[in-house]
Amino acid sequence: MTVLEASGKAGGQINLAIQNPRRRELVGIVDWRLSELEHLGVTIRYDCWAEVEDVLALEPDVVVVATGGLPQSPPLETGEELVTSSWDLLSGAVKPAESVLVYDDNGGHPGMSVAEVAANAGARVELVSPERFFAPEMGGLNHVPYMRAFHEKDVTVTINTRLVAVRRDGNKLVATLGSDFAQGWRGERLVDQIVVEHGTMANDELYHALKPLAKNGGAVDYERLVGNGAIFPIANPDAAFMLLRIGDAVASRNIHAAIYDGIRFAMRI
Ligand SMILES: Cc1cc2nc3c(=O)[nH]c(=O)nc-3n(C[C@H](O)[C@H](O)[C@H](O)COP(=O)(O)OP(=O)(O)OC[C@H]3O[C@@H](n4cnc5c(N)ncnc54)[C@H](O)[C@@H]3O)c2cc1C
Repeated sequence: MTVLEASGKAGGQINLAIQNPRRRELVGIVDWRLSELEHLGVTIRYDCWAEVEDVLALEPDVVVVATGGLPQSPPLETGEELVTSSWDLLSGAVKPAESVLVYDDNGGHPGMSVAEVAANAGARVELVSPERFFAPEMGGLNHVPYMRAFHEKDVTVTINTRLVAVRRDGNKLVATLGSDFAQGWRGERLVDQIVVEHGTMANDELYHALKPLAKNGGAVDYERLVGNGAIFPIANPDAAFMLLRIGDAVASRNIHAAIYDGIRFAMRI
């Protein structure tokens, strides 16, 4: 069993989640799995961006693509090139500016965390959400520490409001805001930085490149996965390996989905 990992460390997006110091215990999810892999003698090759040839060179029987996702921008009328992604801010690649508008139309931890991290760094933060209730994908228990931080740092929350466009005004940015309810309504904010959180787009190039080479063409029989029987329909009988993908490489989801995908398949292969 071999794991090919593009970065220098395991954990993927969890490494971004733990940039909020309050949430650093999440690293246990990674550490425990690494110690289990060591115990089981699994080889992990770090700094290895897997391409088709790297996979084929291992002569595998089963290939699990767990390449996660990449941040994507919300649809904007103009100014996509002017916004900063939540990943850039959380990774430290971009520092929070003095006044920051965080636009979160994903509704989970990343948007809330980036607002908290920017506010703790001294930024004046407004969190804007198109939802009726902000961060609807996050549980009530987690709401408490975020709101404590937001109140302590004077983070403003604006709901029912969409980021429509961004333009430059001198060395500032103007966010044009819109409403899903009143079509002609427009609002504006003049800020130093606009950070967007719009979930991830599946990083599925490797999966699609491997599909025609796989015995099952990358397909899974989901009826059988939840019931009984062989879960891989055979498309290319002469091919050497079965192919499947899990986690955010399928769609923008969460840690639970990635882990459960892995467990469900691992129990059947
Ligand atoms: C700030 C933040 C906070 C979050 N908080 C939570 C939370 O509290 N709870 C929750 O459930 N979810 C949370 N999430 C979402 C969760 O982290 C992701 O849904 C989850 O990590 C997806 O796991 P994954 O393994 O599918 O992909 P990823 O975590 O994206 O990992 C993909 C891995 O594949 C590697 N890779 C990519 N391409 C290649 C390649 N070609 N070759 C080799 N390696 C490659 C990457 O380097 C990476 O290590 C958060 C996300 C963020 C950004």
